[in-house]
Amino acid sequence: MSEIVLEGRRLTHSYGNTPVLGDVDVAVRAGEVVAVMGPSGSGKSTLLHLLAGLLKPDAGEVWLAGQRFDSLSERRRSDRRLRELGFVFQFGDLVPELTVGENVELPLRLLGTRPARARARAHEMLDRLGVVEHAGKRLSEVSGGQAQRAAVARALVHTPPVILADEPTGSLDTTTGELVLEAFVQAAKDQGTAVVLVTHELRVASWAARDVLLRDGRIVGATGATSGPPATSGPLAAAGAPA
Ligand code: ADP
Ligand code: MG
Repeated sequence: MSEIVLEGRRLTHSYGNTPVLGDVDVAVRAGEVVAVMGPSGSGKSTLLHLLAGLLKPDAGEVWLAGQRFDSLSERRRSDRRLRELGFVFQFGDLVPELTVGENVELPLRLLGTRPARARARAHEMLDRLGVVEHAGKRLSEVSGGQAQRAAVARALVHTPPVILADEPTGSLDTTTGELVLEAFVQAAKDQGTAVVLVTHELRVASWAARDVLLRDGRIVGATGATSGPPATSGPLAAAGAPA
């Protein structure tokens, strides 16, 4: 079995006095696509932000590539986030002043890739997601679904070892949603990318090798599925499988 690349251990978080996550254990291995499911408000986005080091847990730990991640300085965390994580935000966070193509090139440029190479690679990703003809447009000139696919291209462009995607198909129809899911599965298969896919849709979760089910900030179920390692060992097993 491949190694665990990202792990949350007993993650607990409150906003002010309102607890939203309690004792959540989750781990994802290289080459594995894990779906985090649960109703709206169950804490899925909060969990993803904790795993990405964008929020600090009140208690618990995040480990990235075998090293403690959440306790690093903000500067070290953002450096590792840029190199090792691709994040697709639920409500988008592309830079409005840049074109679609420039947004997708951004991680590569920050990592020092030469402009011509960055552009070629960005176009390759945009092409795979069916939006390359919009590369030269500003964000205000493309639809929400096109912007969402650009955000997915940006998360994948530098082939990070981990992708965290928050409802990445939320504003897409079934066909374009499948382009996105295929891109994640392909990255997992070809590059050993670990993918955490947050969704409230069963149809989307069916692309993952296994599911983690959140309810009211707690893990209430973990299912092993057809193609991935079953959750019979490791931290998820303790949560038990749903009925
Ligand atoms: P999900 O992604 O599953 O819909 P979230 O993680 O976004 O759930 O939210 C979990 C709970 O935390 C919800 O009750 C939500 O209202 C609350 N919440 C989320 N973000 C904030 C915030 N920035 N400040 C206060 N409460 C928040
Ligand atoms: Mg959410």
